[in-house]
Amino acid sequence: MRLSRYFLPTLKETPSEAQIVSHRLMLRAGLIRQEAAGIYAWLPIGLRVLKKIEQIVREEQQRAGAVEILMPTIQLADLWRESGRYDDYGEEMLRITDRHKRELLYGPTAEEVVTDIFRAYVKSYRDLPLNLFNIQWKFRDERRPRFGVMRGREFLMKDAYTFDVDEANARKAYNRMFVAYLNTFARMGLKAVPMRADTGPIGGELSHEFIILADTGESQVFCHRALVEMAAPGPDVDWDDLQAIVDERTGLYAATEEMHEPARFEAETAESDRLSARGIEVGHIFYFGTKYSKPMNAVVAGPDGKEAPVHMGSHGVGVSRLLGAIIEASHDEAGIIWPESVAPFGVAIVNLRPGDEACDAACEQAYAALSKAGLDPLLDDRDIRPGGKFADMDLIGIPWQLVIGPKGLASGELELKRRATGEKVTGSLEALLNRLS
Ligand code: ATP
Ligand code: MG
Ligand code: MG
Ligand code: MG
Repeated sequence: MRLSRYFLPTLKETPSEAQIVSHRLMLRAGLIRQEAAGIYAWLPIGLRVLKKIEQIVREEQQRAGAVEILMPTIQLADLWRESGRYDDYGEEMLRITDRHKRELLYGPTAEEVVTDIFRAYVKSYRDLPLNLFNIQWKFRDERRPRFGVMRGREFLMKDAYTFDVDEANARKAYNRMFVAYLNTFARMGLKAVPMRADTGPIGGELSHEFIILADTGESQVFCHRALVEMAAPGPDVDWDDLQAIVDERTGLYAATEEMHEPARFEAETAESDRLSARGIEVGHIFYFGTKYSKPMNAVVAGPDGKEAPVHMGSHGVGVSRLLGAIIEASHDEAGIIWPESVAPFGVAIVNLRPGDEACDAACEQAYAALSKAGLDPLLDDRDIRPGGKFADMDLIGIPWQLVIGPKGLASGELELKRRATGEKVTGSLEALLNRLS
């Protein structure tokens, strides 16, 4: 991409409405624009990062056996009457009436829709296990939308729904999502800790929130320190038997505020290992048995031919919230520091003197070579002062900056800067291109 033909509306001033650093940086770096409270337009580089995050989530869901579908954003109120949730959901639900006076709603989640799809087609235990996921916009009329995409009203969520013949199998499906989430967040450079979470009126033990520690997080959390640094299991695991991996983590204390038991925390965790911190909920997995399948009559015939309600779980990831969480975890005074896996571009080529023949030619050479190497370069060929270019490239957080100017070209000493550390390497264009690709 050539910046002279791109759309990168960065702001010099810090927007006064933004209270936390990720929100400020997302506005300043031109990632998003607020159109209404908690409702955002995604600008080019914001959209690029969103798509990269979405793709990592998708790949890890598929690796764990989930199958992608796409459900509508608009749902029928009557489906929610069947599950009994229509009235309970309250003011967070955006209710809509169409021209025929039919009651609709903008989906805040999709248990009812997916159960409706399931019951239309699946009748036998032989078709299980099944895990259907989608990555779709949701709307919740949050009382206090704030912190930018962290708590939006319209937001992008990955929601997976598991269907199993009984609790034992549902637990296996749960474990697959548990491990998929650890791998997903690790690929984005995040340290996510699974914590016991409230299952509300449904009860049961099986619910975990995945939490990123950050001072600006909205939840208070308590956990064993070792959980924060524990490496993700990675893809090479036995996906049919993940109990040991799950047990290793759930064996250490970790709970959100609603589930916190101070006496148990103290009994189970040495004082020096106790961590009490703020956190951001980026994912949530939940086994809820037959809560929806029973009232909605989603039944499967077992080996004995008897029909029984299917056992279900739902598993959410806050895809758009993750942009905020990653920036909270990875930034400095100058701006965002994207992990390479989600960066909008792999490398920025900074042309210090557009119009200079040698500079332009070297930049074109670099652009072609880096494109060919799959590094997705952004060429800053704008006719502005170098200082402005450096500031913008730091602000938008591209992992590498290749700086090409007349002096460096003449002496064979061009500069390659690593955004995360500020570390600089000098060398000829060939040497630096070799290093990058
Ligand atoms: P929160 O406690 O932050 O309100 P939640 O528990 O209501 O979230 P879930 O129903 O568990 O959310 O939804 C799954 C995931 O969707 C959450 O873990 C979170 O990452 C994301 N999410 C929920 N609400 C929002 C929102 N208003 N804006 C952005 N992401 C959200
Ligand atoms: Mg909520
Ligand atoms: Mg929550
Ligand atoms: Mg939740």
